[in-house]
Amino acid sequence: MIKVNQHIKLLDYPGYQHPHCNCLLIEDDIRCIIDSSCGADDLAYLKQRPLDIILHTHGHHDHYFNNHYFPGSSIYMHQADHAIAQSTSSYLHFFGIEPLGKNPQLSSMFLKATQYLTTEIHATIEDRQSLDLGATRLDMLHLPGHSAGHCGFFFPDQGFIYTGDIDLSAFGPWYGNLNCTIQDFLGSLDRLIALKPDYIITGHGEGIVREEVIPRLKKYRDVIYSREQRILDLIKSGNHTLEEIATKCPIYRKIPKPQAIYYIYEQVMILVHLWHLEEQGIIFQEDQAYYLR
Ligand SMILES: [Zn+2]
Repeated sequence: MIKVNQHIKLLDYPGYQHPHCNCLLIEDDIRCIIDSSCGADDLAYLKQRPLDIILHTHGHHDHYFNNHYFPGSSIYMHQADHAIAQSTSSYLHFFGIEPLGKNPQLSSMFLKATQYLTTEIHATIEDRQSLDLGATRLDMLHLPGHSAGHCGFFFPDQGFIYTGDIDLSAFGPWYGNLNCTIQDFLGSLDRLIALKPDYIITGHGEGIVREEVIPRLKKYRDVIYSREQRILDLIKSGNHTLEEIATKCPIYRKIPKPQAIYYIYEQVMILVHLWHLEEQGIIFQEDQAYYLR
């Protein structure tokens, strides 16, 4: 637990261990937390002090994993992520498991491996909506791309933005849901860069990022462009179908384990790029194959 100021604490969960994330606790007139998937010690602390509000950066369950411990709290999430957080079939669809998975056992394996569970949601988050918690004020920012309903939270008096899964990880941006778009992710990164926060707090990994925030956001954005270039190079060298491109792993380079699951993420992220390239008129689709225009 890291004190940010007298009201705000970061419940840090270092590393990228699923299904956990960093959470931001605001203990003000209203007790509020941003995301709930903290570790055991922080969870024990929270259970002794009821939360009024749980705000969610997005609808991936490694961010709402502990919601069921807080039945009296009001849970907020952007509308665009309600389906994946409330319905197993939507989750399997948008993560590409049902449309792209070839193995009939993959759905149950995926649900078990990711420890999927649903959550209740009581209210939606709107872009630019403000919330007054007492001495602490925050503005909600719809920052789609990592998921369609992904949001960040700007604390204007403290000068930082809680950026959720725009987390500056070494892997780069993740956009493995079928309703993600490259345009959304680039737009969200550009918006964060234009807001010039003094520092950011991320949903995974290092948490508080104070140094080189803008250059690091730009470097993170560059990862998207280099993946797109690799996909174009693959098409140019004769790989035209999704499968031909995916076996060359332009996103992950080397598929992590469990490979059956990460290979689906690889395919979805390639598809998201292919749709972006098609929309820009750089490639076109003929039957199941993609060609340079
Ligand atoms: Zn996520």
